[in-house]
Amino acid sequence: ANMSHEIRTPMNAILGFSELLEKEVTEPRQKRFLSSIRSGGKTLLSLINDLLDLSKIEAGKLTLDYEPVDVPEVLREVGRIFEIKTKEKGLALNIEIAPSVPRHVLLDEVRLRQVLFNLLGNAIKFTEKGYVSLTLSTEYTQMDQSTLDLEFTVADSGIGIAEEDQGRIFEAFVQQSGQRTRQFGGTGLGLAISRRLVEAMGGEITLQSERGKGSKFTVCLKGLEVPAVQEMDGEVPIEGPIAEVQFQPATVLIVEDNAMNRELIQEFLHNSGLNTLIAENGQVGADMAFEHKPDLVLMDISMPVLDGKDSTRLIRQNPSTMDMPIIILTASIASDKEKLYEELKINGFLHKPVGRNQLINALAKFLPSDHAESSEEAKIGTDNSEIQQDSEALPSAILEKLPLALEILEGDFMREWEQTSKRSRIGPIKNFSQKLSDLGGEYDLPLVKQFSQDLALAVDSFDVDQMGMKLSRYPDLINALKRLL
Ligand code: ADP
Repeated sequence: ANMSHEIRTPMNAILGFSELLEKEVTEPRQKRFLSSIRSGGKTLLSLINDLLDLSKIEAGKLTLDYEPVDVPEVLREVGRIFEIKTKEKGLALNIEIAPSVPRHVLLDEVRLRQVLFNLLGNAIKFTEKGYVSLTLSTEYTQMDQSTLDLEFTVADSGIGIAEEDQGRIFEAFVQQSGQRTRQFGGTGLGLAISRRLVEAMGGEITLQSERGKGSKFTVCLKGLEVPAVQEMDGEVPIEGPIAEVQFQPATVLIVEDNAMNRELIQEFLHNSGLNTLIAENGQVGADMAFEHKPDLVLMDISMPVLDGKDSTRLIRQNPSTMDMPIIILTASIASDKEKLYEELKINGFLHKPVGRNQLINALAKFLPSDHAESSEEAKIGTDNSEIQQDSEALPSAILEKLPLALEILEGDFMREWEQTSKRSRIGPIKNFSQKLSDLGGEYDLPLVKQFSQDLALAVDSFDVDQMGMKLSRYPDLINALKRLL
């Protein structure tokens, strides 16, 4: 865990700065180089996880993190990473994705990448001429297309694997008998991890090969769920459109000991209308929070002198800063997110490496921006209807209760909304809309009732696009209610 933290911090700089550079570079060839740096960076991250995983698997502690994954894009990215290598070796690299594969499937993206990366890496390594190929096909297993099986194959025309070695090579630290380490290198860990990961995902990995005649590895993942909502703004986008939000003047305090990360965050916020203050450890951070009363604090966890948790504690204990929004920004995988929410009443949690969009979106939840309308339009696409209500239409008794309702909508409900959007499954969306409807009734809020009705309608008619669109407008609902105040 410690090593992963040490590697993640510089990775944050690599991924972050290449993201920034991407905005400035216009030449297509250079753009491609940059995108390879980012893909490579992401893969490096997953390799770090690989090392951790092996120890986790060994300790029986592997947990999978299922979220909607753009599977075709993962394949293309993995392909892009190996593009240069295959060119160098003069190999053909074929990627085929069956048209029936949906855009998103609920999967553990990091694990999937690891497996594909490993298989394709091996295929290229053990092939001197001919081709390597990566194909993906699918079969729906439910009438309503809610679940499916995915079959990935990685095939090559390389040296092949003798029959007697075909079982053994899936064991840890085992390579083909007689293989010269000098020539191919490697640790013999890749296939062992891949097999265990595939099995943990409820799948199977099989091998067909003959010495001298190439190899074909097939990964079959069964019964995967297709998310009800295919497009969403979740925590993921290191990629995606750049959020061009213009904030109203506000001050953000960045508490971070690593100079490169501080610079990166400042760059991310450059031209966003926000003013930044810098503190290099938790003690300075707390002092500056007391003195300058920033509108929001971005807080690293592990820092010298005073760590982010204790610094947050100090800020929470001081009556003049106790309600200050604090977003944790950490590279530590060990930090316990739920505990931080509960004990320290933090307002947000971002995991490094963080992308610009991710950061801006997180800040936009707490800091008012001028372009709420236009960014809203960009997000909702075809739906141009506005969430609006005239405050004079509401009796004052209802307006009085509104702050209370908002507290709930921005607290528990917001967390549930985040979870629901992330998982994109019909059940939770339906529950969420029911809860909203109850709350709308209890507090007499027509806007909330209308929103929940629209959402329920989309759910009941299985209108996936509409469901995603409505759901993504929940922050707009909150803004509309705030305007009433
Ligand atoms: P590593 O590649 O680091 O040695 P792996 O566990 O990924 O570790 O692979 C174990 C061994 O299986 C390899 O060393 C090689 O002998 C054999 N192998 C894996 N993939 C292929 C392939 N596509 N063609 C031939 N041999 C392979």
